[in-house]
Amino acid sequence: MEKKLIELQQISKRYDLPSQSNVTILEDVNLCIKEGEFVSILGPSGSGKSTLLRIIAGLVSPSQGAILYNGKSIVGTNPGVGMVFQSFALFPWLTVLENVKLGLENRPLREEEKLRRALSVIDMVGLDGFEGAYPKELSGGMRQRVGIGRALVMEPDILLMDEPFSALDVLTAENLKRDMLELWTEKKIPTKSIIMVTHSIEEAVYMSDRAIVLSRDPARVISDIQIQMPHWRDKQEPQFTALVDRIYSILTKREIKAVELPGELKKKIEKIPEVRTGALTGFIELIDDLGNQVDLYKLADQLSLNLEDFLPIVETAQLLGFATILQGDIDLTDKGHQFAEASVLQRKEIFKDQVQLHVRIMEKIMWTLHSKSNNKMDREFFVEIFEKHFGTEEAIHQLDTLIDWGRYAELFAYDEKAKVLYLEHEIAETAQ
Ligand code: ADP
Ligand code: MG
Repeated sequence: MEKKLIELQQISKRYDLPSQSNVTILEDVNLCIKEGEFVSILGPSGSGKSTLLRIIAGLVSPSQGAILYNGKSIVGTNPGVGMVFQSFALFPWLTVLENVKLGLENRPLREEEKLRRALSVIDMVGLDGFEGAYPKELSGGMRQRVGIGRALVMEPDILLMDEPFSALDVLTAENLKRDMLELWTEKKIPTKSIIMVTHSIEEAVYMSDRAIVLSRDPARVISDIQIQMPHWRDKQEPQFTALVDRIYSILTKREIKAVELPGELKKKIEKIPEVRTGALTGFIELIDDLGNQVDLYKLADQLSLNLEDFLPIVETAQLLGFATILQGDIDLTDKGHQFAEASVLQRKEIFKDQVQLHVRIMEKIMWTLHSKSNNKMDREFFVEIFEKHFGTEEAIHQLDTLIDWGRYAELFAYDEKAKVLYLEHEIAETAQ
């Protein structure tokens, strides 16, 4: 049996919000990662993937639970990890060599030894000849090679990568993935395990041995899938596409989740996906044109959309009763077809009906506007209410999306300048 390298035991993470409430990001996450494993972590945007990596790195402490490294509980930063960030996180005033050497800053090594190791890693990640260059002289792909070099120079047991390829263009990313995989599979690096957060299912199935899927609000492990194809994997092969399809269906399965609150706000409010009506209508039209049962994975590919942008649209179509998902295929409902083929005005009507039927959080806005004698309410009022449920940043995103939906459905109007939501017809009446 392979040795356990990292073990997460009942990890939870909560953040305090204004007004003495708190939000649970991770809940009861149990995970064991063994030597030799390349693990991918997938999940909706904002679900807590980065938080989970930071907890493994010891950069964020969990509210509950323990992290074991080689069987021992870790407190503070984990000495066994090296981390690669999506944004590269290089120091612009340092050269490639200096940036890479930074990985060894706290190691008790002689300067010559640091230099020797850094140069050898620079060679390994394909940056030979660029030792003296500054980040601004490098392409995105080369900058990320520096980021990877800085992590690898530490010879970490565990390499943590947080969406390492998502800031790169497709070809550059493909090239870097292959190089990374070669270092790993041919054991050119002493790394015992890689944990990579990604929003590309295809990338996970192409590179890793195991895919962990997280839910959202809060994040729990909802699926743990072994990927047992030998490298190099062929993306066209039925076994490959079947696995991608399977993970897609897991990720698109809608879970009714809500945030619990104390006191009078106890009634649950469900978050809505942050999708604009323009994107939703375009998407429904497209599915309608493509005919029945479209393969989600191929569709995302054709649209060159990554999961972060694509999943919320699919989720919205499901939420509003316009589409159903079965085994990775999306199918429009009768309502969905009706919506796709309706005139602009009919569409607004259908949308309004579906929103009123399925979106509880919109009910709260409507109730408030109807209850006020002048049928107006400041935007700030709703932000404050939602803040208690979701936190400030998310509250603003939620309200922006709700305003977009409400305006499209002509449920209410919004004065951008005054930052006020109001019922249109009522205002017209009082003005008369
Ligand atoms: P992911 O990487 O999956 O997109 P993150 O781990 O970055 O998600 O964030 C998960 C959630 O935790 C987000 O909703 C984010 O707003 C929230 N969050 C992160 N840090 C804090 C914090 N310091 N206080 C409150 N909420 C936070
Ligand atoms: Mg993240």
